[in-house]
Amino acid sequence: MTVTAQAIPMLSDNYSWLLIDSATGKTGIVDPAEAAPAIAVLESIGKNLDFIFLTHHHDDHIGGVAELVEAYHPIVVGNQADSHRLPKLDIAVHEGSLVDFGNARLRVIETPGHTLGHISYYIADGGILLSGDTLFSLGCGRLFEGSPAQMFSSIAKYSDLPDDTWVCAGHEYTSANARFALTQEPDNEALLHRARQVQVLRGQGLPTLPVTLRQERATNPFIRAKDAETFGRIRAAKDNA
Ligand code: ZN
Ligand code: FE
Repeated sequence: MTVTAQAIPMLSDNYSWLLIDSATGKTGIVDPAEAAPAIAVLESIGKNLDFIFLTHHHDDHIGGVAELVEAYHPIVVGNQADSHRLPKLDIAVHEGSLVDFGNARLRVIETPGHTLGHISYYIADGGILLSGDTLFSLGCGRLFEGSPAQMFSSIAKYSDLPDDTWVCAGHEYTSANARFALTQEPDNEALLHRARQVQVLRGQGLPTLPVTLRQERATNPFIRAKDAETFGRIRAAKDNA
């Protein structure tokens, strides 16, 4: 028995993730930017909503919470340290918190950088990493609040996770990220292959996520940066690209 994650496209390029614990049928939605697409998916599978999991306070990650709370009364989970700027939390978490979700558990990883209160969730049962706006396929989040060193350390925290972990990120930015990544490693075969695959998927209107950590470790210049200084240089180059 395991947890599954399904992308729900929202706004122009956001992904919210529908989590289902197959043992118990419990459901969770990660970062609902909007309520309507989540409600449509829940109705199509005949499910209630048991949990909302939030990675950070930006509008494009919490915009649908109020309406979903009113409709389903789910348990809302988010970072205690950011509770002043998140919707009302029922479970306030911090580094290492474990949240029971049906028969599975989510582990909280604090990943400051994009925002100071940004957290990620890892579900060992299912091999799912909800990386929010910390890690994207072939990219990483912009540093709105944190320093390059902070973001470098945050992404380094993922290095303990297994290669076959599914990265479920907050945005479909992969095409633009691929173009930039190729400027950093033009001869990286795995990256060239992934860039072609991304082009095909996007050409068919399909998501490029989830993607495995194995794939990202071979192709994502921000994971591949050896130290914080190199990371900062690549981040600055991307910001000015
Ligand atoms: Zn954000
Ligand atoms: Fe975002």
